[in-house]
Amino acid sequence: MARYTGAVCRLCRREGQKLFLKGERCYSEKCSVGIRGYAPGQHGQGRKKSSEYGLQLRAKQTARRFYGVQEKQFYHYFEIATRKQGVTGENLLRILESRLDNVVYRVGFASSRAEARQLVGHGHYEVNGRRVNIASYLLKAGDVISICEKSRGNEKIKAVLEANGARPTPEWIDVDKNALTAKVINLPTREQIDAPVEEQLIVELYSK
Ligand code: SF4
Repeated sequence: MARYTGAVCRLCRREGQKLFLKGERCYSEKCSVGIRGYAPGQHGQGRKKSSEYGLQLRAKQTARRFYGVQEKQFYHYFEIATRKQGVTGENLLRILESRLDNVVYRVGFASSRAEARQLVGHGHYEVNGRRVNIASYLLKAGDVISICEKSRGNEKIKAVLEANGARPTPEWIDVDKNALTAKVINLPTREQIDAPVEEQLIVELYSK
């Protein structure tokens, strides 16, 4: 399935909440959810009641859109989550959080997950000293991400760091803003993940 290339604010409006897909704009009063807080399209302001299936589907779509993952890969993560010990929904979110593009965004090395994906693809980051250009690379506890030496003078990278320097970083990642490195201390617990997702509904949807 092709990647969605339309207006991303429509996705937030469809899910009825901010998914932080557009970088700085998401933190400003220009955010479309604040201005037009109803679903897009002709019937966006119409019927709101959802069936059980509808709620489960929306939960899955919200998670997919929040992390920018395609359906096939998302289901693949679900299968991995079911094979791990513990609560499947939490395992799923933990896997999504451990993606390299997500961590790059979380620590302020990119303004959005989409931008993080692009910058990772262009080879601007290293994991444990080795360049990694795969956005879906899954990090483990102890892994250290850094901005490549060569990329530190890049104007785009400099602008991104300046724009996101003040953004709070998660407690499960130790960020050194001077050295431009970030170490994954532990993969996050559910309480440490601020994803606006009811993961149990996703498990119910895929368990039908
Ligand atoms: Fe979503 Fe950001 Fe657009 Fe607001 S500005 S609707 S949070 S993508």
